[in-house]
Order: sequence, then structure tokens, then C-alpha cells
Amino acid sequence: MSESAPAERDDHVGDGSAAGSGGEKPLLEVRGLRKYYYENDSLFDRLLGREPTSVKAVDGVDLEVYPGETLGVVGESGCGKSTTGETLLRLREATEGTVRFDGEDVMEMSGDELTRFRKRAGIVFQDPFSSLDPRMTVGDIVSEGLKIHNVPEESPDDGRSKREWRRDRAKELLERVGLSADQIDRYPHEFSGGQRQRVGIARALALDPEFIVLDEPVSALDVSVQAQILNLLEDLQEDFGLTYLFIAHDLSVVRHICDRVAVMYLGEVVETGPTDDIFESPKHPYTEALLESVPRASVEEQGRRVDALPGDVPSPRNPPSGCHFRTRCPKVIQPATVDIPQEQYRGVMNLRDRLERQGFTAESVWETLESEHDGEDFERDPVVFKRAMREEFDLAGLSGATMDTVEDALEILANGREEEAADRLRDAFASPCEEEEPVLTGGEHAAACHLFADEEYDRDLDPEDVGNAMGGIGAPDPSTTADRDVPDDPGSGGTSDAVGSDGDTDEPDDNGR
Ligand code: SF4
Repeated sequence: MSESAPAERDDHVGDGSAAGSGGEKPLLEVRGLRKYYYENDSLFDRLLGREPTSVKAVDGVDLEVYPGETLGVVGESGCGKSTTGETLLRLREATEGTVRFDGEDVMEMSGDELTRFRKRAGIVFQDPFSSLDPRMTVGDIVSEGLKIHNVPEESPDDGRSKREWRRDRAKELLERVGLSADQIDRYPHEFSGGQRQRVGIARALALDPEFIVLDEPVSALDVSVQAQILNLLEDLQEDFGLTYLFIAHDLSVVRHICDRVAVMYLGEVVETGPTDDIFESPKHPYTEALLESVPRASVEEQGRRVDALPGDVPSPRNPPSGCHFRTRCPKVIQPATVDIPQEQYRGVMNLRDRLERQGFTAESVWETLESEHDGEDFERDPVVFKRAMREEFDLAGLSGATMDTVEDALEILANGREEEAADRLRDAFASPCEEEEPVLTGGEHAAACHLFADEEYDRDLDPEDVGNAMGGIGAPDPSTTADRDVPDDPGSGGTSDAVGSDGDTDEPDDNGR
């Protein structure tokens, strides 16, 4: 390590745009990373005969990060992106999987080897208010890592003590991140949010790392401050040859700073590719939904229709079978026996999903209907019940055999037999998407979705099922898609303002700068 700020390290710098091409080796390579937490796993639980329940926070993530690039990892709150970042740094122990850093197996490291890795790979946390110890001065915070790692090992030749060297280094770093060396003896509460995040960045730089996980580094900050911090991160990357894993829920920020993007849903990567490809031609319906949630600066686009993505994020304790996104996907594939407008199929699936998750009971619906009659005599008429359910789940436009089946299920439901109603719907409307989990496929721009299935993993699906729902994306028989509401243009479909906004802060309206 140099005495001054970290030296420019051009031996590690890639150009980002070329990441992954030309035989360049990744600096970080993650394969099959899993992080499960277990509930009901105490001795007491075992004595009571309770089965442990796994919570799959990260469930088989593959990633590569190339030297000098920024890989964005995006997804809703709770999708496992922060756990991924912390687990690959060994801040949490993985349940399974391998992480190779500069060719070395991080999961097998211990002792000096692990200490060396921790010097080369750092992290900046999301919350600049809670991530800094309020009892320490910023000088002590920034130089803490130097002390822990005994840097420098010997006193320098210029007569300074090791402590003085560390203090000078902390001053240099504070200045490098846009603060004043005079502020070294101040405490975190004397700084604004943006200034505290600068302190957090200075702390991450102290050990002269090559790789930094930036865990939502701007999401707790005001929009104007976000732009300043993003600019600072870009400058530091250029000056010091840093490689970033940039975790965010805000796609507009990701577009600004990342070379490539990995989109996560419920502990898995569902799409990955160069940033421009992801933004201009997203493949996965979830990515489309995330993109639709990004505020647009242009006047023409401000009035565009933004539909709410149906359903809640499923629990990682009990993720849906097959494709985990199927309970919310606007393009969920219909079985060959069903051919109805996609919005109505989605409505049927929403009804079934709510019943399977025990999201409501027939009794609760009757009580709501009664309360709407405001004390008047109310007769529990199944016709009224069914009408209310059709309205609630957008099923009013159904006709023919499909409507008959749904009416049957609603009649069963009105009589309080929720499980039987769900079974009736499952028998008639089960989607191929719930049978097999799609895998990430497609090379540099890959997606895990049966709509983009390749022959290898699609072999178990009925090709007719896939073609039936593709709405022109290679569908075998155009006549079967005539009535579909599946947009040809990715990103123009019904999507959400409910995703990508986990309430951390306002989102920048123009890429954050
Ligand atoms: S596999 Fe099916 S449910 Fe999953 S994203 Fe693709 S179309 Fe939607």
C-alpha cells in the first residue's frame, strides 16, 4: 500500500463494455450461491417434533464481475440482493455454492488468506445513519480497518508513528471523497446524510481494495445528493481501477452507473445482460415491470398507463412451484386447453392464488357484502357473491366453457369450500409455468423465462402450451394468438408502479444526475 491515497491500478481495469468478451477472466465468479435461514430449528423445536422451515434468501445465484466494470444487482426489497452481496464477501456464511475471487476460492479461505481477501474486497452499506458508530470520530471510523489489519506493519521512515500515518491517511481519504481534513475529529451526527455516506466510502477505500460491494449506497439520500455520490463513485472507480457490485432497487440509478445488470426475484437471478440491452429490450416480464416503474423525464411519457403488478411478493419460506414469478406474471402461460384474453387468465390465476394462500375466506366476503348493506336485511344470495368476485378479479368478460368452470368454482366458494374451489381452478387452469422452473439461458443477455425457452430445458414442456401463450414470439400458429393481450413490444405490457419502490427514498427523475 502506498502512503498516499490508493494508487491507480490499471492492471485490473477493464473497459466495462467489453466485460465477458475477448476471453477476459472475471475478478469475481459466483456459482450456485445459496443462503438459507432455518426456522423452528432449535433444540426445543426438535423436542416438540417441529420440522425446520427453510427461508431461501438466496437460491442458486450465478454471477461474474469483470475487472473494472460495475455490475448492477436490482430487484424489489427482500429479493435477496443484499444477502447475495454480504454472502459473497463472507460477511454471512453461505449454505452452498462457490465464490472465486481472482481465481481463488473464497469459501475455502481462512486465516491469512481470508484476511488478505478482506483487504481486497470492501463494502459500502445502505444506511449512512446506522452504519457509522456514533461514538467514534470519523477519523477513527475511516482508519479502523487499517488498525485491524495492522497497516502499516512498520512505522514509516519519516519519523511518524503508525498512528500518525493512519491519521494522515484518514485525512487524505476524507479529502478524496469531498470532505475536509479538518473534519477528522468530528462525530457522525455532525454530518448530513450525504456526508456520512462519503465517510462510509472513505472507510471502504482505506485498505486500497480492488472490489467494492455498494449496497444501495444512495437510496437513503435526497435526489440531488444521490447524483453527487454517484459521480464520486464513478470518479473513484476511474482513478483507482475499482470493480463494483452495485446493489439497488432503483433502475434509473443502475442505468446511470452500471455496465451490466442482473435482475433478481425471490432469491434468483431472472435476467442478466449489458445495461443497454436490459433497458432497451428486456426479456423477462419481471424486468419489464421494473422498467415500467421508473419515472420518465419526457413529457410524452408522463401520461403513459402504468398498471399495478398483481399480487404480493411470495414468501421465501414457501416460494411458488416452477417459475417463482408466476403468481404475478402478466404473461403467465396458459395451458393448451385454455384460450382467453391474458388479463382474464391473470384474474383467474389471482383468484386461485389467493385461495391457495388462504388470503381470504368465503365468510370474510359475505361479511364485507353484509357491511356494504349498512344494517339492511341481507340475504346470502350466491348470485350476489359471484358477481362481487367477478368484479374483484376482473372476470366479467369471460364466456363459454371457461366462464362455466369459473362459475362452478365460485359457486363452490360461496358455499364456504375454499380448498375445493381452488382445486377446481387448478384442475382447469394450471399453467405450464408452474410445472418446471425456467433456467437462465440466452448467452450474454440471458433470461429465466419459458417464453424464451431453448430446446435443452424446454424439452419437458408441451410446445403447444408455450406457443399458445407467446403471442407472436415464435408462436407456431398465429391463429391461436389472435385474441391475446400479449404485447409484441417488450415493456409495453401491463406493468407496475408497485415494484421497485420499497419506500427508501424518492427516486431520481433523470438518472440521478
Ligand atoms: S416462465 Fe411463465 S410465469 Fe415465469 S416469467 Fe416466464 S411467462 Fe411469466
